[in-house]
Amino acid sequence: MSHVSFLKEITASFAQPAAENPTVEMIEAAYRHHELPWRYVNFEVAPESLADAVRGARAMRFAGFNCSLPHKVAVIEHLDGLGESASIMGAVNCVVRRDSRYIGENTDGKGFLKSLREKIDPSGKTMVMFGAGGAARAIGVEVALAGASRIVVVNRDPARGKELVQLLNEQTPADADDSPWRGEFTVPATADIVVNATSIGLFPNTDAKIAVDLESLKPTMLIADVIPNPLRTNFVEAAEKRGCTVIDGLGMLVNQGVISIKYWTGIDVEPSIMRQRVVDVLGL
Ligand code: NDP
Repeated sequence: MSHVSFLKEITASFAQPAAENPTVEMIEAAYRHHELPWRYVNFEVAPESLADAVRGARAMRFAGFNCSLPHKVAVIEHLDGLGESASIMGAVNCVVRRDSRYIGENTDGKGFLKSLREKIDPSGKTMVMFGAGGAARAIGVEVALAGASRIVVVNRDPARGKELVQLLNEQTPADADDSPWRGEFTVPATADIVVNATSIGLFPNTDAKIAVDLESLKPTMLIADVIPNPLRTNFVEAAEKRGCTVIDGLGMLVNQGVISIKYWTGIDVEPSIMRQRVVDVLGL
């Protein structure tokens, strides 16, 4: 294949529908800042066109692409292999070309873990996590693989919560359990890390409050929220008032992008540039 010097490597997002996509702005900001001759392009891909889209990416030798819902599971059958955590989760948000093979990774949980590690080493810790959807699954698996000893899943739909607990117990070294969520949940004093991995509080429903007894949050606990917009959810603000260390959802979003770019380009990019771009684009 002939290359010309200005040919750009292409990375992409396969999204459906093509909603407002701050990820494009965030990743392109990193490429610009580091003067990388790369592009990140968003494509609206309907579910019935996913196979053709992946074939197109192969034909055009894309270095990789992100997948958003509903493609995160469906894309797997079109790939050549999976990374460890993506294989356990059964979900892929980042595809990486390695020796002409497309390998599925999941950088959502890894992005969360990177944010977490900036504050605390999860090894041997107890995590209480609200939610059992895709974000919770990614976080649960990654934090378990990082050595958390105990994970308590608290989910509105108990069956979905139990499914995640079973996955964690069977496929990771962590000891997982579920706890019912009726009324305001009292966080056990043994918790080191408390995560909102539900969509409660996501823009535009910013007034929504997670049903947690705020009195049970202790200053020794680290409180994390997956919601990137707004930057400071009611939960984060309440936890901070209680003296807890807090992590917002934008850190997870930025770090999953940082890790994706590292997979595609091999380069460590500057997270603050990406974070600022999302803040500007979303007006956070
Ligand atoms: P899913 O639809 O897979 O799961 C949603 C979860 O939220 C379920 O556990 C659901 O419970 C719970 N939930 C929703 N509404 C309520 C409510 N009113 N009361 C109690 N529980 C509720 O979504 P995802 O897991 O993919 O995404 C969850 C959030 O994570 C989204 O807001 C998304 O923006 C955010 N996210 C952030 C990322 C980041 O980089 N910061 C990355 C990925 C996601 P039930 O099972 O009972 O329905």
